[in-house]
Amino acid sequence: MAAAASVPPAGDTPPAVVLGAGYAGLTVAQEVYRRSKGTIPVVIVDRNPVHVLRTELYEVGRLASSGDDAAAWVVPLAQVFDRTSVTVRQGTVRLIDLAAQTVLLDSGEQRFRSLAICLGSVAAYYGVPGAAEHAHQVYRLSGAKRLAAAIRDIERASISLPGERCPRFLIVGGGSTGTELAAEIATTDWKAIADPAARAPAVFLLTGALPLLAGFPPRIIERARKILARSGVTIITGLNVTRVEPGRVYLEDGSVLAADATVWCAGLEAPDVVRRLPVPHGKGGRVAVEQTLEVPGHPGVFAVGDVADLQDPVTGAPVPATAQAALAEARTAAWNVVARWNDRPLVTFRYEERKVVVALGLGQAAGAVRRVPIWGSPAALLKRIVQRDYAHSIEQGETPSTLI
Ligand SMILES: Cc1cc2nc3c(=O)[nH]c(=O)nc-3n(C[C@H](O)[C@H](O)[C@H](O)COP(=O)(O)OP(=O)(O)OC[C@H]3O[C@@H](n4cnc5c(N)ncnc54)[C@H](O)[C@@H]3O)c2cc1C
Repeated sequence: MAAAASVPPAGDTPPAVVLGAGYAGLTVAQEVYRRSKGTIPVVIVDRNPVHVLRTELYEVGRLASSGDDAAAWVVPLAQVFDRTSVTVRQGTVRLIDLAAQTVLLDSGEQRFRSLAICLGSVAAYYGVPGAAEHAHQVYRLSGAKRLAAAIRDIERASISLPGERCPRFLIVGGGSTGTELAAEIATTDWKAIADPAARAPAVFLLTGALPLLAGFPPRIIERARKILARSGVTIITGLNVTRVEPGRVYLEDGSVLAADATVWCAGLEAPDVVRRLPVPHGKGGRVAVEQTLEVPGHPGVFAVGDVADLQDPVTGAPVPATAQAALAEARTAAWNVVARWNDRPLVTFRYEERKVVVALGLGQAAGAVRRVPIWGSPAALLKRIVQRDYAHSIEQGETPSTLI
């Protein structure tokens, strides 16, 4: 238990405000409402009126066949909070003024008595020239939709490519997002989606200085490597990208790779509005929070999910930027929001990764459940069931327990 300190009292009792309705924010808002039995007023703010199922945005094949209809990747916030007193406010956060306990939105001001900052993460380009301008990304729904449409168009146009040439897609970043995306592009039936005569794509996965799926158990990496090879994905390791231009990518050994489309999956950092906060920051501008997820020096202010920089107190390992960790952190943060509100002691966060599964296309996946390796179709099925269960729970207004 951490020491208690009161949230400064306020005259007309502003609400507990949650910024961001992603995996962390949705869970914080639901759990504060549930734990306080609706006695704490909660306002959740997001630029979108929907919760985006971000963990499913690598599905560019399905997105391309869905055209403009992305309903399968979102859940309306109005539906999630339908049977609660939580207020949903749409707006983009421009500035968080911790001293004045006010958030500036493009749609006005929002005062708060306690605050949970759950604004997720954005692509980190590490100063690589051209990456932000010329590479696609799948970190946001709009980006994933654009990529899906671009691949469909490139595949359509492939029927008039000279000789044996086929469309080439470069995925930069060999973590789970890049790996899932490479497998998805390589195994999607583009003939059915784009044109019966469309040519099968050549997919390259560039892992940079890091190995493929860094941090995953070696047996899982080997499995993933075999499944990717079977799907025709070429893996290039050990070379960082130094420049991205339309139609080509430069590597640090001077080689140049031609690309019909490049996708940046090489890393994440905190959004600018969070980086600008006058608080301790960790890797990628994330907020270096206490083990209670509270922002040091700001009682009642929490940072949760991808936006938080946190180490496991026992192993010293960083808590990963995953939806699974965001959900777990959110439960502790919600408990502590209620505790602060009622002047009670806070609890500390401990993270235990239970399952991790990487989708590898064509009903294949590789991962581990409580460190026991799992792969092939059972792994893919498990991932699908857990993802469906998550979406179903939030559609019903319930707090989902986990994700993988
Ligand atoms: C393709 C892909 C696959 C993934 N697969 C997995 C997986 O299999 N398992 C897993 O555990 N994790 C996975 N992840 C990682 C996971 O999606 C993130 O770790 C997770 O989304 C973090 O949750 P969060 O609540 O911190 O942020 P988010 O879910 O990104 O939510 C942030 C919210 O803040 C809102 N927001 C941001 N800025 C503003 C602003 N200025 N104003 C208003 N609103 C704002 C956004 O609209 C969003 O709703 C994957 C990620 C990607 C991209």
